[in-house]
Amino acid sequence: MSEAIAAAAAYVRAAQRAVALTGAGLSTESGIPDFRSAGGVWERFHPIEYDDFVRRHDARREHWRYKQATVPVMLAAEPNAGHWALAGLEAAGRLHAVITQNIDALHQRAGSRRVLELHGTNTEAVCLQCATRAPITQALAQLDAGHEVPVCARCNGWLKPATVSFGQALPEDVLAAAIDLASRADCFLALGSSLLVQPAASLVGMAKQHGARVLIVNLQPTPYDATADVVMHAPLGATLTRLAAAVGVAPRGAAP
Ligand code: ZN
Repeated sequence: MSEAIAAAAAYVRAAQRAVALTGAGLSTESGIPDFRSAGGVWERFHPIEYDDFVRRHDARREHWRYKQATVPVMLAAEPNAGHWALAGLEAAGRLHAVITQNIDALHQRAGSRRVLELHGTNTEAVCLQCATRAPITQALAQLDAGHEVPVCARCNGWLKPATVSFGQALPEDVLAAAIDLASRADCFLALGSSLLVQPAASLVGMAKQHGARVLIVNLQPTPYDATADVVMHAPLGATLTRLAAAVGVAPRGAAP
């Protein structure tokens, strides 16, 4: 393990454009379960297809019930050691950007500045009609006041959580920026992602193909382990704290 940390730190130190891709495994230590293996309230609701949300009121209602049950948990969560370590690396000029599959905004709350959210964010809602965005708390307040589906303050259109639903295209500009980052990275860190969901997973292959060193930290094996330069099947928070220390960077904001 120490050897792997030292090797990873050497790659990060040597890099001019290190980029991280983060997945659900990074946020589990903040108490946010991985939706696919969560259990409990997170599984009482069926995932909604985007087209159903647009067309059917019962689908909109069901999806907002799910959000009403789960978003407050996410908003109450705090960044963990992994988020702080990445924010520290960026502040020290050792990490160019974070691409994330997570929708919890914990990177930004830890102080990361350049964050690309591939799957959108749970902190906002967006109007299906005029694309105006509103804080998710405003939408939740409407639900608490008895509305089944919150509406846009500007045009009264239906609000949808600003997350990417099944069957919904990823935001084009974000995806293009992520592809650009991956193809120009000289060190690519895949952190807490199963690397099973496309197109996020393919960013690893893209980075490797363009000559980046690939570092993987995840509790479980991933399909890209065999091609990576360093693989650690270990807890994210502790591992990234050690990595940042080995690079010579203090975690950002970890102390009150
Ligand atoms: Zn609107």
